[in-house]
Amino acid sequence: MKTSDCIFVAGHRGLVGSAIVRHLRGAGHENLLLRSRDELDLRDTSRVAAFFAEHRPAYVFLAAARVGGIWANSTYPADFIRDNLIVQLNVVQAAHAAGVRKLLFLGSSCIYPKFADQPIREDALLTGALEPTNEPYAVAKIAGIVLCQSYNRQFGTRFMSIMPTNLYGPGDNFDPAGSHVLPALIRRIHEAKEADAPEVVVWGTGTPRREFLHVDDMAEATVHLMQVWAEADASGRIVGGPNAINEIVNVGYGSDVSIREVAELVKDAVGYEGALRFDATKPDGTPRKLLDSSRLLATGWAPRVALRDGIAETYAWFLEHHGEARMGASAAV
Ligand code: GDP
Repeated sequence: MKTSDCIFVAGHRGLVGSAIVRHLRGAGHENLLLRSRDELDLRDTSRVAAFFAEHRPAYVFLAAARVGGIWANSTYPADFIRDNLIVQLNVVQAAHAAGVRKLLFLGSSCIYPKFADQPIREDALLTGALEPTNEPYAVAKIAGIVLCQSYNRQFGTRFMSIMPTNLYGPGDNFDPAGSHVLPALIRRIHEAKEADAPEVVVWGTGTPRREFLHVDDMAEATVHLMQVWAEADASGRIVGGPNAINEIVNVGYGSDVSIREVAELVKDAVGYEGALRFDATKPDGTPRKLLDSSRLLATGWAPRVALRDGIAETYAWFLEHHGEARMGASAAV
């Protein structure tokens, strides 16, 4: 990927897409193709096809998705499956028609079976039942993976898929109902501190475990994988093996924490001294979700941002931005 190559980052306003853009710019890539949803609705098949035919990007990061936390997924299941399926279908087909050199599709760790062995290896895909709270989203993401693999097989395209663990960081969605656990707790615990509230509610039992990766680490890993995965290394060997383009790659931090521990870390960052109250009437979701990222680590990449530092930085970002519109908006494509 040369710095002059035209690169389309689909979803550049989102948490991951915006971090990928920051990272690409930092590495000297100037020829970035970026469109907001108002400029190009990726659900519009003919407009997406026309956009690709006109601009013919060489590389595509497909980071556009309808995303949300456990509440949003169980309340809007049809939106989650429909929007994700149609965006993937439109972008993959248009990328094929326009002769895109390489495309990287962002999946999610929730594609894996609810009771997969931990840490979860890539070959756990499609070996068991999914977590019901986000099944429509996960099924759409699984369809996206198989879509990429099928185009590769039938048309010789180079469309790869990577599976991020739970991500967090600057630019996250802090909407109280629609967001994921970390931004939700940052906001709620901040507001409890402001209001001098004696306690703060945390959903579920506090015992589920999650792995969190800072979005800057994610962006770095994503660009790195676009550059090295399924390409020849210095000795001429294909990184990931001869069929690497069809092998999915996990992107995780390497260790997990309980929701109770996350809440304690957020309390420390915010400086809140009240109590945590666990509301067991709210769903826990999957009991544990830790990825085995050894495939990625073997390519020479490692995460840098420790969770405690990342939470402190994300809280600082929240303090600077929490007057803005996105705080109340629900997650969208
Ligand atoms: P998941 O990783 O797909 O299950 O998505 P979430 O990030 O939404 O939830 C992770 C875990 O955090 C679940 O066990 C939730 O019940 C728990 N949790 C605790 N408090 C909150 C909260 O305020 N918002 C969200 N979204 N999850 C919470």
